[in-house]
Amino acid sequence: MTSKSLHGEIENRLVEHELRYTSARKSVVAALITSDGPLSASELHDEFGGSVPLSSIYRSLVVLEETGILAPHLGTKGLTRYELAEWLRGHHHHFVCIDCGAVEDVAVDDTHERSVDAMVNEISSRVAFTPINHALEIEGRCARCA
Ligand SMILES: [Zn+2]
Ligand SMILES: [Zn+2]
Repeated sequence: MTSKSLHGEIENRLVEHELRYTSARKSVVAALITSDGPLSASELHDEFGGSVPLSSIYRSLVVLEETGILAPHLGTKGLTRYELAEWLRGHHHHFVCIDCGAVEDVAVDDTHERSVDAMVNEISSRVAFTPINHALEIEGRCARCA
């Protein structure tokens, strides 16, 4: 989806909930569209150079999560970061740095995605669990920390 159509989809979703696409909500979404991974409230605050108050960033994150526009990503150190939900951003996985905590999106090609699905199906079938989706976290050290 282009950035323009993403904003359109998001505005429609908010309107369905009788909510407005305020400038703070737009700023949060715009930052997450261009980001290469999930961002926390304070990372967004830095991104905006302090131009959007932290309190309105927090309120925007709550509303955008409640309406299914954002999905939380729970970091290893208890920090919650947010990203666009899968219906907007597409299916992907994450690299998580165990030293600095940075989280980066990684798109997996179809061949590898099929192998992951096959493994998930096999593991689930042993315990009569019906898999619907999966999320792969690859933990290690990012280029800066390696
Ligand atoms: Zn790192
Ligand atoms: Zn996958």
